Amino acid sequence: MPINPTLVKEFESITGKEQVLTEPADLQCYSYDAAVLSPVMPALVVAPTTQEQLCKVVKLAYDNGLPITVRGSGTNLSGSTIPQGDGMVILTNRLNKILEINEEDLYAVVEPGVVTAQFAAAVTARGLFYPPDPGSQSVSTLGGNVAHNAGGLRGLKYGVTKDYIMGMEVVDYRGELIKTGSRTVKYVTGYNMAALMAASEGTLGVFSNIIIKLVPPPKASKAMLAEFDDVNKASEAVAGIISGHIVPCTLEFLDQNCIRYVEADTKAGLPVDAAAILLIEVDGGHPLLVEEDADKVMEVCRKCGSTNIRIAQNAEEKLKIWEARRNALPALARARPTTVLEDATVPRSQIPAMVAAVNAVAAKYSLEVGTFGHAGDGNLHPTILCDRRNKEEFARVEAAVDEIFDVALQLKGTLSGEHGIGKAKAKWMEKETNRATIEFNRNLRRALDPKLLFNAGNKFV
Ligand SMILES: Cc1cc2nc3c(=O)[nH]c(=O)nc-3n(C[C@H](O)[C@H](O)[C@H](O)COP(=O)(O)OP(=O)(O)OC[C@H]3O[C@@H](n4cnc5c(N)ncnc54)[C@H](O)[C@@H]3O)c2cc1C
Repeated sequence: MPINPTLVKEFESITGKEQVLTEPADLQCYSYDAAVLSPVMPALVVAPTTQEQLCKVVKLAYDNGLPITVRGSGTNLSGSTIPQGDGMVILTNRLNKILEINEEDLYAVVEPGVVTAQFAAAVTARGLFYPPDPGSQSVSTLGGNVAHNAGGLRGLKYGVTKDYIMGMEVVDYRGELIKTGSRTVKYVTGYNMAALMAASEGTLGVFSNIIIKLVPPPKASKAMLAEFDDVNKASEAVAGIISGHIVPCTLEFLDQNCIRYVEADTKAGLPVDAAAILLIEVDGGHPLLVEEDADKVMEVCRKCGSTNIRIAQNAEEKLKIWEARRNALPALARARPTTVLEDATVPRSQIPAMVAAVNAVAAKYSLEVGTFGHAGDGNLHPTILCDRRNKEEFARVEAAVDEIFDVALQLKGTLSGEHGIGKAKAKWMEKETNRATIEFNRNLRRALDPKLLFNAGNKFV
């Protein structure tokens, strides 16, 4: 249904005409995100450029009962930013100023639309470190990272986005600015709403700025690539490193399918005949301690049957390793028309069981699957390569995904480690929790969004 032209004019009077889109050709690219779901056209897109505009836009939309989808860069993999029909998209990527980087007190204040990698680079230029590094960091926004509690390659040692949120300002359904947290290390003045907002997936309000914790950078690091001729040996090495109480900053797994697609794409020199590889980086405050940790990691890998371990000899070689890993999803995505990327996560000791189960499910449904992921966090991304237009094949894909989730839950894992629930996984929520939990969360949501206009159809539906 076309949107009321008077209402459009009111939005234009808040943000200026150029920040309001209503033409189908302009709206189309906001009808989908990185999830494999059908697109839904919004009725309009509004992109505020100041906090004041954002408050007014939310109030006007809410007062008029417009369903609101909040969107950063739209790289999420769970359909969280697929709009509701006849609804609007509030685009936050033009709220993109770094407001403060405080080197004395180790924090920064940013608007939500700042691109993650640009922020990390600005912080590095000031001699500090922002560790969360999702594979999408060159495009994703910090607001999107908070709303999905994004992880990354360094999650194992440094934690994920939620571990870096000191406070924030959130525009609530009335268009009012709600403040939580502070620039101080300690804060017990109010409820810990910043924690509530992490992984809220745009369902509780719109972040308008975020106070982010920064840390000193590590002084030394060492990256290596361990090859295995058997997937089980690689996954046992992951479990062995964790149970040996060694904490690399990064511990990533790629199976043979991934290795081959990535190598074809990047020519990074990956061993295409290996059944699996682990990409590992250890870091710390002193080179000798880093050496010691690297030796321990290599010992575990050898004990578990690693056939070869290569150590990056310089920064360039290290960069090559991590570029290859970051290219895993794009490389797989180029292989077939549709890429169904899952995110089931298990306790780390269960990695060998999970890897074996994914391969068994792939064989059962005759599907091509490449598995990679943050193995050190128990967070694997089994990626099914298929063609959604082939109905028979896609039915097998859906059955396989169901089984992968079942196994993850049987292993005491979770539906999503970092990609979120969105529209894609909402139907499985009761499997992991129970009716009472879903009702409890819905009640909480209704208190903060009485008309259920923020990202309806997502998460707790
Ligand atoms: C190639 C690739 C690699 C990826 N690698 C990783 C990875 O390693 N780790 C990982 O965790 N994820 C990864 N992702 C998923 C995705 O990039 C992350 O979820 C990211 O945090 C989304 O950021 P975005 O700016 O694109 O947010 P969007 O996709 O636009 O939105 C994500 C969620 O945030 C909400 N939102 C956005 N801005 C705001 C705001 N200002 N206020 C309130 N809610 C808001 C939206 O409503 C939505 O629910 C990857 C995706 C791709 C395509």
